[in-house]
Amino acid sequence: MAKKQFKTESKKILDMMINSVYTNREIFLRELISNASDAIDKLYYKSLTDKKVDLDKDDFKIRIDIDKDNRILKITDNGIGMNEEELDTNLGIIAKSGSSLFKEINDNNKDINIIGQFGVGFYSAFMVANKIEVISKSFEDDAAHKWVSDGVDGYTISKADKDEYGTEIVLHIKDNTEEENYDEFLEERRIEGIVKKYSDYIKYPIVMEVTNRKLKEKKNEEEKDEYEEVREDKTLNSMIPLWKRSDDEVTEEEYNSFYSDKFFDYEAPLKVVHSSVEGQISYNSLLFIPSHAPYDYYTKEYEKGLQLYSNGVLIMDKCADLLPDYFSFVKGLVDSEDVSLNLSRELLQQDRQLKLIAKSIEKKIKSTLEELLENDREKYEQFFEAFGMQLKYGIYSSYGMNNEALKDLLMFYSSTEKKKVTLKEYVSRMKEDQKKIYYASGDSIEKIDMLPIVERFKEKGIEVLYLPDYVDEFTIQTLMEYDSKKFANVSSESEDLDTEEEKKELEKENKDAKDIFEEMKKALPAVKDVRFTNKLKNHPVCLSTEGNISLEMEKVLNAMPNGQEVKAEIVLEINDKHPIADKLKELYATDKEELNKYSKILYNQARLIEGLNVDNPSELAELICNYLSK
Ligand code: ADP
Repeated sequence: MAKKQFKTESKKILDMMINSVYTNREIFLRELISNASDAIDKLYYKSLTDKKVDLDKDDFKIRIDIDKDNRILKITDNGIGMNEEELDTNLGIIAKSGSSLFKEINDNNKDINIIGQFGVGFYSAFMVANKIEVISKSFEDDAAHKWVSDGVDGYTISKADKDEYGTEIVLHIKDNTEEENYDEFLEERRIEGIVKKYSDYIKYPIVMEVTNRKLKEKKNEEEKDEYEEVREDKTLNSMIPLWKRSDDEVTEEEYNSFYSDKFFDYEAPLKVVHSSVEGQISYNSLLFIPSHAPYDYYTKEYEKGLQLYSNGVLIMDKCADLLPDYFSFVKGLVDSEDVSLNLSRELLQQDRQLKLIAKSIEKKIKSTLEELLENDREKYEQFFEAFGMQLKYGIYSSYGMNNEALKDLLMFYSSTEKKKVTLKEYVSRMKEDQKKIYYASGDSIEKIDMLPIVERFKEKGIEVLYLPDYVDEFTIQTLMEYDSKKFANVSSESEDLDTEEEKKELEKENKDAKDIFEEMKKALPAVKDVRFTNKLKNHPVCLSTEGNISLEMEKVLNAMPNGQEVKAEIVLEINDKHPIADKLKELYATDKEELNKYSKILYNQARLIEGLNVDNPSELAELICNYLSK
């Protein structure tokens, strides 16, 4: 019998496949099962359109048989089958799809691993088998044929015996090598696991004979329970995907157990979003918002992504392109007929489809969160507790590109409401003449609440947002404004606190005290300016900043590894209503050296209140002790 050779390009691909160290070998089974399912589809379709064909739909099935001793794994279907010519053309070359994939890989320097995600079908079986026999009988042909190949030297086709129509794929599984274990593909449990993982929703039963432990039948009631091992057929796949059922047919328990099985979370999800979209692109999706952040969520080990199915067949376990980073916490899956199993066909086309789905998924998640915020505040707060940081980070890390998408999902602690509020809520409560949205940052809500500078805002009833998280202020700065209202740090701006008159008065006072402040600055090289302020109520001094870097940001930036030394431009502000103001004036007139010491103490005191370090603690201690000893 003459051996036929594979086409050149097919040869190269085969070679790559056989020899590449391949992590995703197991997908070969998915490919063969999908082929079998397609073949059954074709026959089933025929029976619908051709009256002469009369088949019982319930007979359709895919069988898997393991013969460990002979190292054989066999996949059999009763689908449409192939005649001699079809065996030759279908399996003789890697279908057009294969060769164009090869071109893609070459042109784009794409990793061979892409095969693992999308497969090139039948040929992937050569990753685990050193010889493959395909025995097939076409539904429309009396003769059966056998195609045999070792993947290297081409293939032969000969007549064969087979009674039933359909196709039998016989894989001769490779021997183990020092590095590679192939025995696993002869293990029942392993095969069952692979079927469950990739082909659970194939719509025909996938049947395999397995060993079951069964209770022996008792002859009488007194007999003890005894078990026996029996071999029996088991349908490995569950066939109907949860997400293909209509929403009102699925119970909450079913959703929850599906979620915990698939995504390994011991807690029920906070929210389930099950949708079916039709239009420019059609897909079913089942999304879950977890109720807590996974332990590795805020580390770089965490991988975002949704499972991607093509018509019930898993093609990718974590398709990262389906989720924007700021929604990386979402778990779930997308199933679309528009995404073909064979990505190889047209990578670019596929890309466009994925993008469309991703856009639509993003919208869905956003509207779900907005609804939750509107209708179930408590749950939303729980959500925000777990993942709010990611949303804020989403704003800050994209330099504002995501502002529109995310701004209404943010929450910050409010000084007046004593709980987290949205920016929309803040703005709706703003006083008529209030121009800005005020915020204060610090280490914790409690500490911010004690900041002297916040005191007068409280007194005037102006709401202040407290920002204790390190990303908060960066987020606010990236947002810049909300509803055309600019954000302002309480320590650098206070225009809404004072009347015009008060402002004028302060200006005059500052002018009069100019020389005093110049003198004080001599003792405080780290300070850019000294001035009187109206911001304080009881406290003598506070710090504020000019420019874009606040004290809190200085702290955060300098704590980062490789952070450059960033310095905020610090201003020491003095309460002009506090007795200390008069004392300073007096000292300027009588004792400049004493003024110098006072300045140092006041400045460091203000630093301590802000939660900052004192530059020279022993100098400060000495100064204070001096006064204590007087
Ligand atoms: P693809 O499935 O992407 O076309 P494959 O290499 O997996 O590529 O298969 C090539 C062709 O061989 C299929 O398109 C189909 O026509 C035929 N084929 C493969 N497996 C079977 C089968 N079990 N029954 C009938 N035809 C099959």
